Amino acid sequence: MTEESVNSQPNNDDDEHSASAIFVELMRQAAAKASAKPAPSAIDEGDAADNAPSPAGGHPAAEGEPSLAPRSEAHQIRRVRPRLVLRRPHPSSMASGFLGTIFVVVVSTALVATLLMFFVNPEFLNPAVVQGLQLERDEIIAGIEAPRPTPVQTPQWLRRIGIISGHHGRGQNLDYDPGAVCYDEYRRVVLTEESINHAVATRVVNNLEALNFTVDMLDEFDPRLVDYRADALVSIHANSCIDYGEIVTGYIVSKSDARPDTGNDVFLRECIALNYAANIPLERSYNETEDMINNHAWRKIHPLTPGVILEMGFMLADKEILTTQHDLLAHAITMGILCYIENTGYSAGLAQSSSRSADYLVPLLATPTPIFGR
Ligand SMILES: [Zn+2]
Repeated sequence: MTEESVNSQPNNDDDEHSASAIFVELMRQAAAKASAKPAPSAIDEGDAADNAPSPAGGHPAAEGEPSLAPRSEAHQIRRVRPRLVLRRPHPSSMASGFLGTIFVVVVSTALVATLLMFFVNPEFLNPAVVQGLQLERDEIIAGIEAPRPTPVQTPQWLRRIGIISGHHGRGQNLDYDPGAVCYDEYRRVVLTEESINHAVATRVVNNLEALNFTVDMLDEFDPRLVDYRADALVSIHANSCIDYGEIVTGYIVSKSDARPDTGNDVFLRECIALNYAANIPLERSYNETEDMINNHAWRKIHPLTPGVILEMGFMLADKEILTTQHDLLAHAITMGILCYIENTGYSAGLAQSSSRSADYLVPLLATPTPIFGR
């Protein structure tokens, strides 16, 4: 039983708790006999200094000492007491201060933990977390299990192909340019190169447009050739009708002499040649003339436009094919263009294209070209 309850009991409920009240009164009397000092609770009330000047202030050791020290102690207590009362914080401010402390502790803990993460050995981390963080990197390194994005093929209509119908349109001097011509015994022109070229070029353009390519049918001196940009440019020609005194036959495919021997021009040239040979019963000739390797078109088109010129055959010895097999000639040229367009950079050698069921051939190049995507 504390002394505060001792004090309160006699004041309240005197009748109801008579037994305890009597006991308390007995205890109080015994305490009064034992020592004349006042109850410590009186000091707590704050006015004990005036009521009990002479006895010791609560310290048993102060008993018998001069009354000066207890008096000063009592004064001290009285002076300090109001200050303590004033400083006691309100419950609301106590709650907010407690929450603020928790907030500061949590934030600083998170910051410190984040900083310390840089020094943590990965072996101490949860293996599942480490695996999840490293999954993408490991898959990139391995390059096997990672699902690779399927390369989106360029739509055909975004592929631009230029076909020059040799000698068609206005000539260099704005006059009619038949190209090579064949005469009869009366020196009358019975066959022009321009008509052969145009018959084949028109069919090639139709073939490519049927495959949804963007195709430009170009005249020999077409103004669009200046800085012309396309995925491929093929100039279609036929060789001379001159009687050389011997059988001169065969087809020629030539690129610009100014273009490198390892670029796309070579690949386009070989695609045309190989598929031409696969469809047309003619031998390949390499008698390239200045008109082929230094053609006016090569000086006009954009440097990044691959261009070749095809001499489909000689108009004298190969007249039968050039005049009666326009569809077959166009088919061979179309296959050669497809070989280049759909297998750019593909250097798997002389083989059927695996990307397409068409019957065009992919050439084997002496210098392998870079592989893009396939
Ligand atoms: Zn020509």
